[in-house]
Amino acid sequence: MRLKRFLCLLTAATLTIPPSKLFSQTNDGPPSLTFRKADAVVLGFHAGVSAVFSGIGSARRKKGFWKGFAGGLAAGGAIYAGNKMAAYAGYSPVYAYGAKAIHSLGVSTRDNLFLGYGPFKRYQIDFGPARLSFGNKRINDGHAFNAYLLPGALAALIWAAARGDDFDPKLSLKLGTPFFLSDDLPLKGDEPEAVKKFIEERRKENPELDPETVFWIQRGIDATNTVLLGKKMNSYDMRGNFRGSGEADFNSFLSRSVMGHEVIHTLQYREVNFLDGIFETGIPMLDKASNITHMKLGSDLVILPSWLADRKKSHDRRLIELEPVALELK
Ligand SMILES: [Zn+2]
Repeated sequence: MRLKRFLCLLTAATLTIPPSKLFSQTNDGPPSLTFRKADAVVLGFHAGVSAVFSGIGSARRKKGFWKGFAGGLAAGGAIYAGNKMAAYAGYSPVYAYGAKAIHSLGVSTRDNLFLGYGPFKRYQIDFGPARLSFGNKRINDGHAFNAYLLPGALAALIWAAARGDDFDPKLSLKLGTPFFLSDDLPLKGDEPEAVKKFIEERRKENPELDPETVFWIQRGIDATNTVLLGKKMNSYDMRGNFRGSGEADFNSFLSRSVMGHEVIHTLQYREVNFLDGIFETGIPMLDKASNITHMKLGSDLVILPSWLADRKKSHDRRLIELEPVALELK
């Protein structure tokens, strides 16, 4: 009860100063769509990578580099659009599932072109530890529908459950990926850095900002397709002093922004499945193993080394953070 009053007090204090939506805990609708400089970078990256992959695959099968390149550009556009939409996932399942569907279309098209198939011959979409695959029998392991296990995604799910975090079926369904609520996330060292960065950014936008202004931080973490969200939010003033913590309001702008950030990470896990295509097209033994075991290891084999290399760095300095930080709602 005391905690609750404390929370209300702080909220009242923040409502008087509205320089950024992040200061308030209001339950307004989603912020309007904007195209920032960072969007151009993310779009350019996806269009470029997809175009080159698709062009190479197309050229290898004598279908013309530029034809594949053009298709890859469009696929990269869909991958960007999916990520952009995912930033809004916390607001509605329409955004969450729409983002996943569009993003999967982009990645599937890129993969099809890389493998030398028609752009829409196979459609693959991930849900938690499963990859569902629909398409032409010849290139879909002999069936119009197939399902594959993503071992890294299964391991992450088991890890989250073993930590004793609470699986939230409602949030999981709403966001299209397994969601757990957690009392303590293994991210503690990141908070001071996040606080410092938040203050620096707001000061740049508004140098006159009252140092007494209170803002909130909520932690989230993504492991492949499994998301952990903090049950508590911590508050600080603009000097960086800790001002107390309270129960997270999952309808607040902050919480929805964190959800969007984490959902973008889940899409990244799908995005980096390059090796699946390379196994399928160039290494028959690995392709056969994948057909027999119904396992797809492509994303895990990319994510794991990147995680090992970056795990000692603070959150925003990791390579994998560039995209969600660029696109998240601010
Ligand atoms: Zn992140």
